Parts: sequence; C-alpha cells; structure tokens
Amino acid sequence: MKKGFVYIVGAGCAEADLITVRGLHCLQKCDSVVYDDLIDKALLEEVPTKAEKLYVGKRSGQHSCSQEKINQLLIQKASEGQIVVRLKGGDPFVFGRGGEEMLALQKAGIPFEEVPGISSAIAVPAFAGIPVTHRGVSQSVHIITGHSALSCDGLAAGMEPLASLPGTLVFLMGLENAKFIAEKLIQEGKPEETPVAVISARASHHPVTLRTTLNHLGSRLEEGKFPGPALIVVGEVAKMKLLD
Ligand code: SAH
Repeated sequence: MKKGFVYIVGAGCAEADLITVRGLHCLQKCDSVVYDDLIDKALLEEVPTKAEKLYVGKRSGQHSCSQEKINQLLIQKASEGQIVVRLKGGDPFVFGRGGEEMLALQKAGIPFEEVPGISSAIAVPAFAGIPVTHRGVSQSVHIITGHSALSCDGLAAGMEPLASLPGTLVFLMGLENAKFIAEKLIQEGKPEETPVAVISARASHHPVTLRTTLNHLGSRLEEGKFPGPALIVVGEVAKMKLLD
C-alpha cells in the first residue's frame, strides 16, 4: 500500500505567487489539500484535477472545524495513503498551530515535513513601505498575539516587558484589541508619541494603512470600520514609507 505523507505548507501572504517554489511543488503533486482562511484561493488551482480540496477555515458562513478534527482529518487522509498538503496562511509556525498538527502526526506515526512561508508579520509591513528592522532605527522585531483570549490576564500581564523593548512590535490578531493594547503599552511606559501603523493587505499593492501614534490609535480606529485581516506595527519604523 502507498504510504501517506503530510506537508505542512506556508502559503505566504496575500497573493498566490508569494508561496515558495517548494510549497508550490507540494501542491502540484498532492492527493488532497486541507486549507483554511487567509490563503489566496488561486493556489487551489495548482493541485491536480482529481485532488480533494477540503476547507477547514472559520469564515464563509461555515462552522469552524476544531483543531482536534483537523488533526484527525490529516491523519485519516494520510492513513489512506494520500499525499496531503496542509495549506496555511503565511508561515505555519507563526500563530498557525503548525506545531500542534505536527505533534499529532508524530504521535500517530505519520511522516510529515514543514515548508516555511512568508509571514504576514514581515510581508504586510513591507507592502506598506515599512521595514520591520532598519539600521539605526530598530534593531529587533517582536511578533506578538493581540488576540482577545489573552486580554484578561495574559496579554495585559505580558505588556510590561513589551513596553520596554526598544525594537519593533508587530501584533497579529490584534485589531479588536487595538485600543486596549495601546493603552496598556502607554501605561507600562511606552512613550505615547510612538508611531503606529495598522495595515490590512488583501493584495500586496495599495494596502489599507492607518498611520498614527499610540495615544491616538483607539480614537482613529473608532472613526470608521477598519478592514480585516489587519496587523499593528508599533515603533519608529511605523512612520517610514519606502514606496515609490
Ligand atoms: N500564520 C500567519 C498568521 C496567522 S494569525 C502568518 O504567518 O502570517 C492571523 C493574523 O495574521 C491576522 O489576524 C492578521 O493580524 C495577520 N494577517 C494575515 N494576513 C494578513 C493580511 N493579508 N493583511 C494584514 N494582516 C494579516
């Protein structure tokens, strides 16, 4: 019997041609692709015509699939002898739960490999002309979850060390909590004039960008509905605009 295999592939950010060549080759030889939101659907046209396309995301009015169910699906398909591609937005290990899926596959004795992808944490600021590090301006970049699940204690408690970091802070999944994040950072000592950029990039050109400072972030976002998905860049690089 043909032995199954799972490739956990980073789809890259926003546009199909930002996947790696290796990731594309995996798609072109797979028997099934298990995908979620935040991938360019044009990538699904790359799989062989007979390949199964299995959506396990949270949007499009469908019920979200639990992580446990996704793990089981990967194990089941690979056990049937399939070459499975688990396609994830950005990079599988940047808030992508790729590690959890790999642990489940390891436990089930299914062979697997990870193919890195270009994370939104770096690509989306770049689309807006913001380098996440820049000589003489920012010597480090920190990628942080701004998710509400952590807002009660985890995120708030974790803000103190974050506020004192001199480098760039990139918050993913933080749009809903933007005001809270800004207030906490100021409270913990981050200067209120620190530049901030909120960016949403459905495509690499002309991302929707809001540039402001920490103390005005909450009120600026209240002016209108900012589109998602979005990330928040905090630090001196956020006022840069390296675009033609
Ligand atoms: N693994 C992904 C991140 C998953 S978490 C990666 O490496 O990119 C999802 C978060 O990523 C979103 O809430 C948002 O903060 C960010 N994100 C993903 N795609 C984005 C896009 N096109 N524009 C802005 N932010 C994006």
